[in-house]
Amino acid sequence: MSGNGFAAVPAKVDVVVVGAGFSGLYLLHRLRGLGFSAVAFDEAADVGGTWYWNRYPGARCDIPTTDYAYSFDPQLEQDWTWSEKYATQPEILAYLRHVAERYDLRRDIRFGVRITAAAWDETARRWRLRTSHGGEVSCRYYVMACGCLSLPKTPDIEGAGRYRGEVYFTAKWPHDQVDFSGKRVAVVGTGSSGIQCIPLIAEQAAALTVFQRTPNFSTPAHNGAPPPDRLARLAADREGYREAARWSRGGVPVEVTDVSGLTAPEELRRQRFEAAWQAGELFAILGVFSDQGFNPVSNEFVAEMIREKIRATVRDTGTADALCPKDYPFGTKRPCLDTSYFETFNLPHVRLVDLRRTPIVTLTEQGIDTAGESLQFDAIVFATGFDAMTGPLVSVDVTGTDGVTLAGKWERGPASYLGLMTTGFPNFFMITGPQSPSVLSNMLVSIEQHVDWIADCLQRLRTEGFERIEPTPLAEAGWVQHNQDCADITLYQRANSWYMGANVPGKPRVFLPYIGGVDAYRKTCDEVAGLGLLGFRLDGPAGSRCNDGVIRRVQPDVTIMLDLMASLPSIETMSAADGRAFLDAIDAVRPPGPEVGEITDGVLPGPAGDLAYRLYRPPSPGPHPLITYFHGGGWVLGSQDSDDPFCRDLCVRTGAVVVSVNYRHAPEDRFPAAVDDAFAAVQWIAANAGRLGGTPGRLSVAGWSAGGNLAAVTCQLARDAGGPDIAGQLLLNPVTDCDLGRPSYSRNGEGFVLTTALMRWFWDYYADEADREAATASPLRGTLAGLPPAVVVTAEFDPLCDEGEAYAEALTAAGVPVRQIRARGHIHTSLTMVDVIISGAPVRAEMAEALSHWWPAPVRG
Ligand SMILES: Cc1cc2nc3c(=O)[nH]c(=O)nc-3n(C[C@H](O)[C@H](O)[C@H](O)COP(=O)(O)OP(=O)(O)OC[C@H]3O[C@@H](n4cnc5c(N)ncnc54)[C@H](O)[C@@H]3O)c2cc1C
Repeated sequence: MSGNGFAAVPAKVDVVVVGAGFSGLYLLHRLRGLGFSAVAFDEAADVGGTWYWNRYPGARCDIPTTDYAYSFDPQLEQDWTWSEKYATQPEILAYLRHVAERYDLRRDIRFGVRITAAAWDETARRWRLRTSHGGEVSCRYYVMACGCLSLPKTPDIEGAGRYRGEVYFTAKWPHDQVDFSGKRVAVVGTGSSGIQCIPLIAEQAAALTVFQRTPNFSTPAHNGAPPPDRLARLAADREGYREAARWSRGGVPVEVTDVSGLTAPEELRRQRFEAAWQAGELFAILGVFSDQGFNPVSNEFVAEMIREKIRATVRDTGTADALCPKDYPFGTKRPCLDTSYFETFNLPHVRLVDLRRTPIVTLTEQGIDTAGESLQFDAIVFATGFDAMTGPLVSVDVTGTDGVTLAGKWERGPASYLGLMTTGFPNFFMITGPQSPSVLSNMLVSIEQHVDWIADCLQRLRTEGFERIEPTPLAEAGWVQHNQDCADITLYQRANSWYMGANVPGKPRVFLPYIGGVDAYRKTCDEVAGLGLLGFRLDGPAGSRCNDGVIRRVQPDVTIMLDLMASLPSIETMSAADGRAFLDAIDAVRPPGPEVGEITDGVLPGPAGDLAYRLYRPPSPGPHPLITYFHGGGWVLGSQDSDDPFCRDLCVRTGAVVVSVNYRHAPEDRFPAAVDDAFAAVQWIAANAGRLGGTPGRLSVAGWSAGGNLAAVTCQLARDAGGPDIAGQLLLNPVTDCDLGRPSYSRNGEGFVLTTALMRWFWDYYADEADREAATASPLRGTLAGLPPAVVVTAEFDPLCDEGEAYAEALTAAGVPVRQIRARGHIHTSLTMVDVIISGAPVRAEMAEALSHWWPAPVRG
């Protein structure tokens, strides 16, 4: 095939690369180095991708150029010097041209050619690609290096074709100089491109009208020469700096703070914010507080301080107010860096039209009619964004196995494995695809990581005798779930952003990029490769191989907690006293849990002396249902203090009075002291329900871990003693049996805080071997018929998981109503970590709802 004077395209190559931007150029270079035959196609007339198309005034990067550059070749870095902290589009394009020349890449690129369709041929194990020139090319591997922001969104405005004046799109800007001098200009859109071009268009135009649908958070870039400190760090240790970037959260090595916006004093909050404001970098303002991406209160501190800056800059109060974003958390839409954006609105010839107040009705021949007025323009600039991430991929008619199209498969949102491949489309790779960090990161770091992973993978397939690779449905489903789990603990899904596909009518609302971080993502990809390409099926002359599995199953915030705790000593190596002191120290620095109506401490009579209790009362007028709660800690550790945040949470979520009772601990008081205390406490609380503010007859018991054991045992004792009546039992990760041989002890016995060794330590302190099989120690061995309805919660990565499940099954078999809640991705300790492990909140909501369900309706007098 040949076309339009371009060099002939070979009919068959090893790899076709779509796109000749940063991704395509580096991929070509790598593939060539590995001896693969490869050809790249780009619709554009030259290299550059984003930087070829987006030539609007003010177009520049907003990641410092020292970081927004290739790092794969130290010599290339030596050759090139950036002139500004944030380089302009012409300078970045010149850099990419230099790269193309330096590595002689153009000879393998066909410009002005669009790939329109691709179909997988299972017999030949090859892709057949069609081009806009009508030709066909066959390749073993097909890589879409087509960019995340390369398909401009067509403005969804009535009468779009009617306007007769000059029309410009920031994402398809003409190559010739555009002169707005003396003209009446409209700019529609105030995203990154709009915010960059508006100040410069204002400098030329006679009158500029900015049409804004959604105000954007923007902070000053403080552009200028590249920061000397950054240059010095690079000069001192280039490779160390680049490696730090590769293992950073966003692809730029920045200081990571542990200052929480929630707990920091006002003065420190302001100080941190001002420092970030002065730094003029996205990752600085996105990282003022450790919790601003998760916690709405912390986020609002940053958001409001930015709004204060906007109000202090823009003189007209109405305009300032309209420019202040108010209905989404900061950072959940792509924040911008600007040069004099807000100042521009102080110019007499610039005005803002707030489309939320006066929407555009239609374009006319002369301009734009809004709901309030008819405006005439000589030129209209559309800065209306992109059909991001999935758009460029599904705009090609890609057909995989069994005739399934990519657009069809992704109708309700993308599903991929690592954002690199998708099931049903063998040998089809994506660079910075959906469900990879991509647009949430410094793209250069993500591009290099993806290109390297793919190139290494292709080389490995060749070496090991495979020619077909496809992710398994299990691995893909696991990755999609992990992406959703990551997004669920952040504030990102609260915004109608292009990250969510919300800017394109009809596009499914799914959070598109992976938000777990560049570092976590790289670790995952490395692990997948290290585990023999876990989750991929491989076929070829060497036969078939499939190492199926899910790479990330633990909840993302639990993983972070486990990483933080990895260096802490294990309790089973300590004495009981040291273990208690150690836990007290950890408890001292945790968040307090939610506010309740009232908390009172008291004592109740136990069989061997007073037992301390803490009572949590809801703010609503009582009486309330009552819950007697037993804390966890393996009968050795814990107290009414240790489970305080969880008890507050239980009180708030159930609307019940929660009475958290302490009991005697081992080794000082061994079995059955704790059981005797627990049962005595339930009897006393039942007898004093009215005095405690509870509704008689609506008493439940609850407990976590060893406390769950005591709650279960108490129900059996109450049944056998003919009272008190217990309405329901909540058993959270309960100890139900002394058999440590169940599979969950080997599956989860190491690395998830509660270990098999620690459980043995607890049992050894608690009870003699001879006593452990008694129903009062191992309630699973008791008679279960006639017990109160139960909510049994088990955590997937808990050594106690199987015995919890066994108890739920045995209760069901005995005719007891059971609601079983399986906490996916959780460990023994994570569900009680209120305000620390965000992913535990929905499970706690479910258990509270389930427990409340068993309470008999209040008797109305
Ligand atoms: C204005 C702007 C500023 C940005 N600033 C930053 C920044 O500061 N930092 C950052 O990290 N990221 C930034 N980005 C994101 C930017 O897209 C990436 O950083 C990077 O340039 C992407 O490179 P790429 O090669 O993957 O894709 P692109 O540069 O988008 O190149 C893809 C190429 O593929 C071609 N193509 C697509 N489909 C087909 C097809 N079917 N057939 C043939 N050719 C096709 C396109 O024509 C395009 O040339 C910015 C994006 C924009 C729009």
